[in-house]
Amino acid sequence: MLNTSVRSASPHPREAAVRVDGLRLLETLAGLAEFGADAQGGVSREAFSLADDAARDYLAGIARSAGLYPRVDEAGNLIVRMAAEPSGRPVLLMGSHLDSVTNGGKYDGAYGVVAALETLRSFAEQDVRTRFEPVMIAFTNEEGALFPQPFWGSMAVAGVLADAEQAVDRAGNSIRGPLARAGGDLDSIHRAAWPAGSIGAYLELHIEQGPILERRGFPIGVVDAIVGRTIFEFTVDGQQNHAGTTPMDCRSDALVAAAQIVLAVEDVSKQRRLCSVSTVGLLDVEPGLTNVVPGRCHLSVEIRDTRPEQLAKAEAALTGAAGEIGRATGTEVSVEVTMRSSPVHTDPLLSAAIEATAERLDLPTMTLSSGAGHDAQIIGAVAPIGMIFVPSANGLSHSPEEHTDDVHLMAGADVLASTAANL
Ligand SMILES: [Zn+2]
Repeated sequence: MLNTSVRSASPHPREAAVRVDGLRLLETLAGLAEFGADAQGGVSREAFSLADDAARDYLAGIARSAGLYPRVDEAGNLIVRMAAEPSGRPVLLMGSHLDSVTNGGKYDGAYGVVAALETLRSFAEQDVRTRFEPVMIAFTNEEGALFPQPFWGSMAVAGVLADAEQAVDRAGNSIRGPLARAGGDLDSIHRAAWPAGSIGAYLELHIEQGPILERRGFPIGVVDAIVGRTIFEFTVDGQQNHAGTTPMDCRSDALVAAAQIVLAVEDVSKQRRLCSVSTVGLLDVEPGLTNVVPGRCHLSVEIRDTRPEQLAKAEAALTGAAGEIGRATGTEVSVEVTMRSSPVHTDPLLSAAIEATAERLDLPTMTLSSGAGHDAQIIGAVAPIGMIFVPSANGLSHSPEEHTDDVHLMAGADVLASTAANL
């Protein structure tokens, strides 16, 4: 469907450059940042919090007063259309997420949602007609900060949200009440899924959350792929013993083995280049006392890359290293893979459309991959996806210091609107 729509672009291509109202975009973004604003800077607008509900209401109110049609679906996603009823044409879905991590920034997710809303407003004001029906979406709970089911909203739209009834927050409370308060309905959540073929394409504009665009001096990034990721749990069993009376050659120290695992994890990406990044984000030591040789350690490890074969190589290398380290340290090391997500590629025709549009707007582009996960990777299972990045100052994100210059924010929104107009 997309192939034909791009390739058979009408014999009289309009090549329209649609400019959004940049100041209004910045105002809406600043207004949104008030919801969940932390006293010490940054934003804590976790999905299904009161601040998240208020932010959804705020955007719906803006949409309504602009003559657009907002509604909340069964999963809590905010959907804005240009008419009261669906047109029946394939939809060009545009958006991102409204929720943030705890003490995150103002731009992650929110920027893509506000730019999509601004795109609809510009289309209405400038009477832009499009082949696809443009629709804005704010996916709920992309981050999974309170309810650790990330990509909740996009998975519901893609029809791949399993076990929704079992979803609980970190304290074990059901999602049912908070979802209802947000306007959703757990009992009919399957109705949030879109029928096959109804989404003609999905475009997501997002801050890069990394340093590459800024470092290389490009205002616009065109994303070719979103990384795949493997998560491992390592457990090291040694012998807990007295730190004063146990000679060094009689020890089976779980933490010494864990330290070697940390270095092996760094090694698979940094020296051996088997995958692009690899991290130990969590290390537990038992019993964790100054005068006790550690008996047990637990490590959470993740690796990322856009190439499935490289992920497999890195995974094999780490599993092999676990055995070697166990033998060398006299400990027992077990490894379990707890999560695998595949890399997702964006649609080459959508990427080409983004590039051509940016070029017409005199905005140089570079192609890059996304090291972070996005709703786009979920929607990629049911529709062609395209992603646009703008620079993140100092590469910072998931931090109160997250920042993107106004000029980049406005340029990215122009690229989104113009690409949408010309598809
Ligand atoms: Zn995001």
